[in-house]
Amino acid sequence: MENIPFLDIEAVIAARRPQIDSAIARALGGGLFILGPELAEFERKFAAYCGMREAVGVACGLDALTIALRCLGLRPGDEVVVPAHTFVATWLAILHAGGTPVAAEPAEGGYLPDAERIEAVLTKRTRAVLVVHLYGELGDIANIAALCAARHIPLIEDAAQAHGACSANRKAGAFGVMGCFSFYPTKNLGALGDGGAIVTDDPDLAAAARKMRNYGSSQRYVHDADGYNSRLDELQAAILSVGLERLDADNARRRAIAARYHQALSDIGELRAPAMGEPQSHVWHIYAIRARERDALQEWLARHGCQTLIHYPVAAYRHAPCRAWAPAGESAADRLTREVLSLPMGLHMSDDRIDRVCSIIASFYRMRAQGALP
Ligand SMILES: *Cc1c(COP(=O)(O)O)cnc(C)c1O
Repeated sequence: MENIPFLDIEAVIAARRPQIDSAIARALGGGLFILGPELAEFERKFAAYCGMREAVGVACGLDALTIALRCLGLRPGDEVVVPAHTFVATWLAILHAGGTPVAAEPAEGGYLPDAERIEAVLTKRTRAVLVVHLYGELGDIANIAALCAARHIPLIEDAAQAHGACSANRKAGAFGVMGCFSFYPTKNLGALGDGGAIVTDDPDLAAAARKMRNYGSSQRYVHDADGYNSRLDELQAAILSVGLERLDADNARRRAIAARYHQALSDIGELRAPAMGEPQSHVWHIYAIRARERDALQEWLARHGCQTLIHYPVAAYRHAPCRAWAPAGESAADRLTREVLSLPMGLHMSDDRIDRVCSIIASFYRMRAQGALP
C-alpha cells in the first residue's frame, strides 16, 4: 500500500508548473528583484481579494505580526491578549514589539478563545487583541470584533492559516485594524520561500508598515524609524500571484476533504472531529481531531502508512522565551495539546486516500473495543 504523506507540495507545484515558470520568467525579465512591479501588482490584488485598501508585502508571517504590533507603538507594560494555543510566532511577535502577552484560553470543545474568554482577560493596560484564525477557522470573530470596537481596543488578526476564510462577507484579515499573513510554502496561499503581508484599510498604518519594512525609510537616505529589512521579493510576489488565482478553488477542495473526513469520523464516539460550522468561515489549513488516546492513535496511523502531525505539542507559553507568562497549573491549552492530531490535508488528498485514513482510524477503535490494543 502506498504511504499517505501529511503534505505533498511537490505535487502541487508540478500541477501548476507552467504558470509558475512563466511568472518566474516575467519577474526575471523585469530585472528588479526587490520592491518592483511584481510586488506592487501582488499587493494590489491581495488587498482587493481581502476587501482592504492596502496590502504591504513583508519577508514572513512573523515580521508581518511584529511590524503590525510595532505600528501601534506599544509602550512598556502594554498588554496584548493572545491565544494560548497557537504557533509560537504569534507570541514572539509580541515580545519583539515590546508588549506583554496575556493568554486567552481555548473555549470548551473548540480550539480558539471566544469573545467571553478574551473579555475575561482585558485590563486597563490592554493595548491590543491579537486573534489567531488557527487551523483556518474564523471562530467567534464577529463577537470579538464587536467587543474590541466597544472597548476601543485595536484588533489585529494572525491570519497566517486562514487566507480566504470568510464570514458575513468579510475576509480573514479584514475584521480588525491590521490583518497579518504568512506565505510560508505550506500555507493555503504559499510562496516557494518565505513571505508575508499586512492588510489594512488605514493609509497611515500602511505607510508606517511600508516604512518599517524598509529600514525605517520612505524616502531614500531618510531613516526616521528603527525599521527592518523585511520585504517580499519580486520572485515570490510573482509566484504568489499564480497561487492567489487558485486560492478559492484550493479552499473549496479543502472544504470537501474536511466534509468527507467529518462524515466518516463523526460516528466514532471516542474521538472528536472538528465542528463543521458555517462552511465559508473555515479554510481547513489543518484538519485537527481530538482524541484522549492520541499518541497510540498516531502510532497506529504511522504503522499503517499514514503520516500525521501535531499542531501544537506544547502551549505557546511553555516555550522558553514565553514562560514568564505561563499559568502555574495545567491549563485548557495544555489539555488540548495532548489530544490534538492533524490528519493529512491538502490537494494531494484524493477521496480514496481520505477513505483509507478514516478506515485506519476506524480499525484502531475496533481493535481497542475488542481489547486487542492497550
Ligand atoms: C506560519 C505561521 C506564522 C509565522 O509565519 P512565518 O511566515 O513562518 O514567519 C505565524 N502564525 C501562525 C498562526 C502561523 O501558522
